[in-house]
Amino acid sequence: MQELAYVNDAFCPLDQARVSIEDRGFLFADGVYEVIISYGGKPFRLPEHLERLRRSLELVSIAFDVEAAGVADIVQEGIRKSGWDRTQVYMQVTRGVAPREHPFPKDAKPTFVAFFRQPRKISPDKREKGIRLIAAPDFRWDRCYIKSIALLPNVLAKQGAIDAGADDAVFVTPDCLVHEATAANVFMIKDGRGRTPDKNQRILHGITRQSVLECAQALNIPIDETPVRMDELQAADEVFITSTTVEILGVVELDGRPIGNGNVGPLTRAIHEQFTKTISSHA
Ligand code: PLP
Repeated sequence: MQELAYVNDAFCPLDQARVSIEDRGFLFADGVYEVIISYGGKPFRLPEHLERLRRSLELVSIAFDVEAAGVADIVQEGIRKSGWDRTQVYMQVTRGVAPREHPFPKDAKPTFVAFFRQPRKISPDKREKGIRLIAAPDFRWDRCYIKSIALLPNVLAKQGAIDAGADDAVFVTPDCLVHEATAANVFMIKDGRGRTPDKNQRILHGITRQSVLECAQALNIPIDETPVRMDELQAADEVFITSTTVEILGVVELDGRPIGNGNVGPLTRAIHEQFTKTISSHA
């Protein structure tokens, strides 16, 4: 079992992977990325992740052909070579290496890199007890549906939450609309009915968000995709966040006030259980 990277068309140990400091990803955050988890050696929802990668590339005009580059095969091979049952696959495509000038370089070849390592484990205690969120002003750009590597606002908001003694932040607009957490989508439950912010340009269209909608449907839990206000989130019976890395994680506190009775809610647990079943039938 080993941490691996894929760079310059070859696999190597992760700590030996190198890219140029003139890479536009390094200089301008001029690139896009994806994160996938493999369960039982099989990447979960790979076609959906590759489709989102294609879309992100198109939206930032990086000419990288995901099929021609054999990305699906690289992902499968990296998972096999790294050897874990669960592997986190990170992949990134940038506009390539060129002298630092803002316009798109004429001849640069996009840089594709990937790495394969064990996913960060959410402690059983955190899963059981849930996490605390604080609200943060959404000072990001208006194209958050592109999975851009420019994540400084997310990094600052996450650190701000930790410094405030919470676990994560939820981005909120000046007119009090909830967008998403720093690296996850947000759901709420009220009176047995779910809500999650509708898919618009201000949130990432999460693959786990989509899986959760399907899990809820299988459980006959209605979920509406409509704008969510901060006061509605605060008054919810249950809140949870979703992402490839955390799956479904209950939220028990928002801005220092309890959500519902202050425990991870029953529908949150039921949806996570259903999600776990989906994973095992996939693996
Ligand atoms: N929103 C943001 C800002 C994210 O960074 C992520 C994941 O990294 C998500 C939502 C969840 O997306 P997914 O479920 O595809 O991992």
